[in-house]
Amino acid sequence: MTVFHCSRCGNALTPDLTALPTVPAVPGIDVARPEGARQAPPTVPQGYYAIEPEPWGAPFVPQEDQDNPVPSQPRGLLRATLDGFVISAGARDTIVLHPDDGSVLQPLPCWENSTGCCGPDGTEGPNRACPCGARIATLAADCSGPWELHLDPVRTYAFTPPDAHR
Ligand SMILES: [Zn+2]
Ligand SMILES: [Zn+2]
Repeated sequence: MTVFHCSRCGNALTPDLTALPTVPAVPGIDVARPEGARQAPPTVPQGYYAIEPEPWGAPFVPQEDQDNPVPSQPRGLLRATLDGFVISAGARDTIVLHPDDGSVLQPLPCWENSTGCCGPDGTEGPNRACPCGARIATLAADCSGPWELHLDPVRTYAFTPPDAHR
């Protein structure tokens, strides 16, 4: 079992979580959702976490092959800016959680980096902070993408008690 903490203040950010070997594949990000659903099913079930090995989140940079664009990040959509199709150059090894397992985190003042349709799309940079103010996480919760919370791998740390047998 593992608890994630804020690197700045040491505050616990999550309940005890169990590691998943990989980030689960999300069925149906592009598939029709139940009537009225504003979020995808959560990528990671409550009580678990997974490490995303690929770059995820801001910043985004132009893709090399503009004729054969790929999604901008894992479980993401094709994204284009004035520079063309872009791809994430964000951090690798972000910690992916069920959003409800990071409920101690707070939106930034004035909802900075929280632009989206039904929720923040998570492409603008960290949009959730520790109660101490450190910007340590990014919530993606829009109707057009996955529903997941990413902890910054540098600004948070994992603590697993040495006697935890599970
Ligand atoms: Zn903190
Ligand atoms: Zn929407």
